[in-house]
Amino acid sequence: MLATVDAATETPLARTRRARRIVRLLGEIHPDARIALDFDNPLELLVATVLSAQCTDKKVNEVTPAVFARYRGAADYAGADRAELEELLRPTGFFRAKTNSLIGIGSALTERFGGEVPRSLAELVTLPGVGRKTAHVVLGHAFDIPGITVDTHVGRLARRFGLTEQDDPVRVEADLAPLFERRDHTIASDRMIFHGRRYCHARRPACGVCGLARLCPSYGTGPIEPELAARLVRGTRGDVEALR
Ligand code: SF4
Repeated sequence: MLATVDAATETPLARTRRARRIVRLLGEIHPDARIALDFDNPLELLVATVLSAQCTDKKVNEVTPAVFARYRGAADYAGADRAELEELLRPTGFFRAKTNSLIGIGSALTERFGGEVPRSLAELVTLPGVGRKTAHVVLGHAFDIPGITVDTHVGRLARRFGLTEQDDPVRVEADLAPLFERRDHTIASDRMIFHGRRYCHARRPACGVCGLARLCPSYGTGPIEPELAARLVRGTRGDVEALR
C-alpha cells in the first residue's frame, strides 16, 4: 500500500515543495506537453483560443487555416462579413457567438490597441469573449508571460492534488499561483492538462499506473490494479492527436 499524502495536515512549506515536485514529475511523465492549438502570431492564438471554447483543439486546427488565410489582421476581423465568417466557424460550434466575439475583438484591437494584441491580463480581459483563461493562454504562449490557465482539467487535478478546495477558477488560480515558481506557471498548466487528458480523468482516473501516486492524496479515486488502470490511460506520446 502506498504511503499517501494527508493534504489536510501538511504544512504550507511541505505543500509548496510537493506542488513543485508534482510539476517536475509531470514534466518527466509528459515531456511533450505543449499547447495543442496551431498559430503563428499572437492574434492567431487569440482567435484559436476563442474558437476552442466547447470545441476540441483538433477541430479548431482544422478550421483555422482557412480563417487565418482570409483574415490576416485585426481590421480584417472588424470588417468581416458576418455570414461568411459564421460559415467558416460553424464546425467549431456556437459559431454565432464566436463570430460576434471575433468581430468585436477585431474592432476593439483596431480602436484601442493600434491593431495589436495587448500584453497584459488587464487589457486582454476587456476584449469581447476573452476571460482570464484565454488571456493566460495568450500571454503564456504568445508572449512568454507566465500565467496559470485554469480549465476543467487544471481545476480537477488541483483539487485532487489537495492544492485547493475551490471550484471557482479564479480562486483555484489564486491558490496555485504562490505554490509554483512563477516561471513555471504556463508549463505547469500545460502539464496538468496533459495529465488530466491521459491519466487523471474525471470519472475513472488511472491511479494504479499514475507516476504521481506517492504525491497525490487522491490516490485510489480510480482503480489501483495496474492492469485495470493501464486500460484507462488514453493516448501516448506518439498519438497526441487522440488527446486533442
Ligand atoms: S490518477 Fe489518481 S493518483 Fe494520479 S493524480 Fe489522478 S487521482 Fe492522483
